[in-house]
Amino acid sequence: MSRKLKDTYHKIGELLVRRNLAPAEAIDEALAIQRSDIESKRTPQPLGEILIRKKVLSRSLIREILEEQRIGRGEKRVLKIDLRDADGVAIVILEGRLDETKDEPITRIFEKLMNRGFARLALDCSRLVYLNSHGISSFVAYIDEARARGGDIKFYGMNAESRFVLERLGLSKFVQILASETEAIKAFELPIDEYMSRGALAEYISSEGKAGRLFHLSYCETAQQIPEDDRIYFESKWHAREGGKVSCKRCKP
Ligand SMILES: [Zn+2]
Repeated sequence: MSRKLKDTYHKIGELLVRRNLAPAEAIDEALAIQRSDIESKRTPQPLGEILIRKKVLSRSLIREILEEQRIGRGEKRVLKIDLRDADGVAIVILEGRLDETKDEPITRIFEKLMNRGFARLALDCSRLVYLNSHGISSFVAYIDEARARGGDIKFYGMNAESRFVLERLGLSKFVQILASETEAIKAFELPIDEYMSRGALAEYISSEGKAGRLFHLSYCETAQQIPEDDRIYFESKWHAREGGKVSCKRCKP
């Protein structure tokens, strides 16, 4: 086994133990198997494979760890951007890191899309491994521009850390984060105004009971009087109206 390969295997072991993902004994045992492979001149089995076979770890976890190592080594530091059209929605696939040094290429792409008349953009964030406030700020202005043109920039496939960054910046109240591409495309069926109230994304509440003729913003006093188990929620004002509800005169959703 090459010196470099040996280092890599060793580092995976370290990572697993440090993160409490595998007991040190299991790693030692797996390393012993590798050593005996080498001693008997067989091709050593990868540490990950041994741990999967011994049911110490799942295959998906190993994949994640290897991915993380690649990122650590800097192989994926560059932001890769791919574009695809899906029924008039520009799908922008982001892969790698979106941080302060990478804001230029993405800005150029937004600029180009807007110039070509695309106001509906959906950002696939599922392959984004890192996102910070600088990366975000590079496209906040384009969200406003897209909305001014009757479109929006929506996000989907975002991991927990990226969501946290948006939350910390207070942006999760202004941008729509959907679970999947299908949901993101579907969300374009309604203008963003239907989802927003007073500049922020809102959830609309009504009731199945006798007060159920109206729909409210969550903080409306009348809405708060609706018992929890009687509440029904709508993702947009349009959905509430479709459900036969009328907007409350008090909170004016
Ligand atoms: Zn109300």
